[in-house]
Amino acid sequence: MDKAIATAFSISRKVKQGLSYSDLLKEIRNGNIVSIELTPSRREVLVKFADGSKNKYAVLPNDQNILRAAQESGTPLSVSNIRQQEALAGVLGNVGIILMIIFALSFLLRRSANIANKAMGFGQSKSTIKPLDELQIHFEDVEGVEEAKEELREIVTFLKQPENYTKLGARIPKGFLLVGPPGTGKTLLAKAIAGEAGVPFFTISASEFVELFVGVGASRVRDLFKKAKEKAPCLIFIDEIDSVGRQRGAGIGGGNDEREQTLNQLLTEMDGFGDNSGIIIIAATNRSDILDSALMRPGRFDRRIEIGLPDRKSREKILSVHARTRPLSENVLMEEWALKTPGFSGADLANLINEAAIYTARNNDKKITNKYLEMAFERITLGLQKSPLLDNSKKRLIAYHEIGHALVATLIKGCDQVDKISILPIAGGMGGVTRFIPDEERMDSGLVTKSYLLNSLIISLGGRAAEILVFGSNEITQGASGDLERVGELARAMVTRFGFSSLGPIALESDNSQVFLGRDLINKRSEYAESTGREIDKQVRIIASMSLEKAIKILEPHRDTMDRLVDALINEEILDRVRFMELANITNV
Ligand code: ADP
Ligand code: MG
Ligand code: ZN
Repeated sequence: MDKAIATAFSISRKVKQGLSYSDLLKEIRNGNIVSIELTPSRREVLVKFADGSKNKYAVLPNDQNILRAAQESGTPLSVSNIRQQEALAGVLGNVGIILMIIFALSFLLRRSANIANKAMGFGQSKSTIKPLDELQIHFEDVEGVEEAKEELREIVTFLKQPENYTKLGARIPKGFLLVGPPGTGKTLLAKAIAGEAGVPFFTISASEFVELFVGVGASRVRDLFKKAKEKAPCLIFIDEIDSVGRQRGAGIGGGNDEREQTLNQLLTEMDGFGDNSGIIIIAATNRSDILDSALMRPGRFDRRIEIGLPDRKSREKILSVHARTRPLSENVLMEEWALKTPGFSGADLANLINEAAIYTARNNDKKITNKYLEMAFERITLGLQKSPLLDNSKKRLIAYHEIGHALVATLIKGCDQVDKISILPIAGGMGGVTRFIPDEERMDSGLVTKSYLLNSLIISLGGRAAEILVFGSNEITQGASGDLERVGELARAMVTRFGFSSLGPIALESDNSQVFLGRDLINKRSEYAESTGREIDKQVRIIASMSLEKAIKILEPHRDTMDRLVDALINEEILDRVRFMELANITNV
């Protein structure tokens, strides 16, 4: 039954929907329609039937019939002016678009304003004044640089009791230049002064002076000094000053004008504040050789403090400083580790302890033991070790190569001693390594003899020599290329720079390993005749091939020792000094 009603209903709907124009008029007249809404602009009417359903019908443009019919039947008729609504909607739409454009514009404007603001702010130095309690570094944290500390302690008195000096008519130095290899604690020292001096401390890295825009660096310098003058007495620390302080007129390519302007500004500012005005500038660099000489003249950075790599005693102290805050096992002796680490800078030593701490944590241990320090040392000096080689013939060749180096070094007297041999592949490297214990005295003095250099050439070629002896001259590998490069460089330096050859005691080349300044590049002409160049090449070749012959000659009678060592090395993969000497069993060493 429900279905029947539904069908009837749908039929009536259909009738209504399919209502013809004349039927529609009829329906209106018959009063079957409750209300009519006429929209002239769309030429349609919306009618509501007595049963509540609604429907739309098309009408004539200016339909009088509908009006009349509605009037006659008394059906309420309303006229809606949709065009007005549409117009309104259109206006609203336009307003929306305009608003959006305004919004977008203002966004862009704001952004560019921000950029502009930033550009304006470029001129301000990024230097930071460190509140005193934030700097917790003191002179005790920097070890092994006693002389430098002494000099720098004086700064504190310069700032705190200037009268002591001024009453004697002394001019208090304006600038201190800390010079030394990377990682020797220059930045650390400067921070320590800030901690000790108890005056405002401005710190900026010179690279922050140099920006994309010309003139920004100079205005930053101006700004920095302006701020400093307001806070005097105070300290300014300019780290890595070489990035602006390079010799002027020596650049290659761009960025140079900007740097020169910055440097000029710095010089002007340093001259600008009077003597004893309570501002002291400390700068640090590891490239003092490339600094503009104007920076170093009296009245500017006239106090130069050299910081070298730490010697054994200093290394022990630095290690202790860094061990202070870490749980070390009782049997770790700093003395021993200081002995093992000639050539390490303070930063290297800090790194050693830190790496050891990481290994300790990785193994869930409570205390840093010698084992972990050894692992860290290995990693730092040898590199990250990969898993051992499987290929046996390759392994054997590498083993002979390394044993070649080690055995030659042991058989030659007056040379570095073997510390460790490893045939574990090194990440990024080829094959194995032989590590030597550097000679303390030589490291400290920086002086090497001709015989030492000749010996080190022979040791470098020991690997190649062993390959030739064991595998024949056709089976040698390119694995020795690193050794050969070193040999080439060293032999050449011996001939052209140290006067160790028959070419006589003249330096034919300067140390041009680093072309830092454009000037070097431009002026780098050969300083000798072509024939001399040929002679140099000949001498270098003679030195190198004689060294190889010598290495072969040294190894030849010890073939059985070599085999024994190689077997052990292949089995154990790492031989330390003790094991090596025990196996080598060379009585006359
Ligand atoms: P740089 O001379 O290159 O400025 P840093 O002062 O930045 O070297 O030193 C880097 C890190 O090495 C320091 O944070 C510190 O941990 C360690 N270090 C370097 N030298 C010493 C030192 N003499 N005493 C103690 N720690 C040092
Ligand atoms: Mg530094
Ligand atoms: Zn080698």
